[in-house]
Amino acid sequence: KLSKRLETVASFVPTGAIIADIGSDHAYLPCYLINKKIAKKAIAGEVVKGPFESAVRQVREAGLMHKISVRLADGLDAIDESDKVDTITIAGMGGPLIVSILDKKPAVLQNVTRLILQPNIHAKVIRQWGLDNGWAILDEVILEEDEKIYEVIVLQRGEMTLTEEEILLGKYLLNEKSETFIKKWTKEVENWKRVLESIEQAESSSSIIAKRGELLHLIALVEGI
Ligand code: SAM
Repeated sequence: KLSKRLETVASFVPTGAIIADIGSDHAYLPCYLINKKIAKKAIAGEVVKGPFESAVRQVREAGLMHKISVRLADGLDAIDESDKVDTITIAGMGGPLIVSILDKKPAVLQNVTRLILQPNIHAKVIRQWGLDNGWAILDEVILEEDEKIYEVIVLQRGEMTLTEEEILLGKYLLNEKSETFIKKWTKEVENWKRVLESIEQAESSSSIIAKRGELLHLIALVEGI
């Protein structure tokens, strides 16, 4: 059975999609999408040999070798134009790593109409990247599983405008203000306040003053919602 986190990612894959799951590890997500007849074809990309081999094993055991191509490659190098991939999923990494993968080979994205991204941390980097690269947020989900909070961001082609709050917190998530959302940001503000307290004791240097300013700004931003 798929985790709630990956099930949420899967729920945004359009029926009939040709997907590439980058950083697929065990290839659980592509196997699920093919088994459920959601995706037509899938590529599971992995840059590390161990996870690549476990993806190969998983796909072979599931008898899905004809539908899922497992490739040892860095990021979007797993995809070739002739694959006609229209949907990319990248889950379980930090926002900055996800963005660096997307930025490294932009030509591959030309045929892609949907990106389903699940950053473990720093989701705001993904929203900013979307804003700067002609993508608009179609939907966002925040969820908790095993005491961890995850965000899923779904992008499609288009223009959007986002305020600073919306980049940090997510426009849809901010609108919804779910229990999980409140929990996440209450905790973040507590952390920022703790850091602020500890640097109050430090000697003032220009970098400490800048950090203090940044933290005060973030705290005011989140407390103001
Ligand atoms: N996507 C799966 C999930 O969400 O459960 C696995 C997440 S796992 C924490 C992250 C995986 O991404 C690791 O297996 C790692 O080897 C892989 N990875 C990291 N950087 C990568 C890159 N540049 N290209 C392909 N895979 C990468």
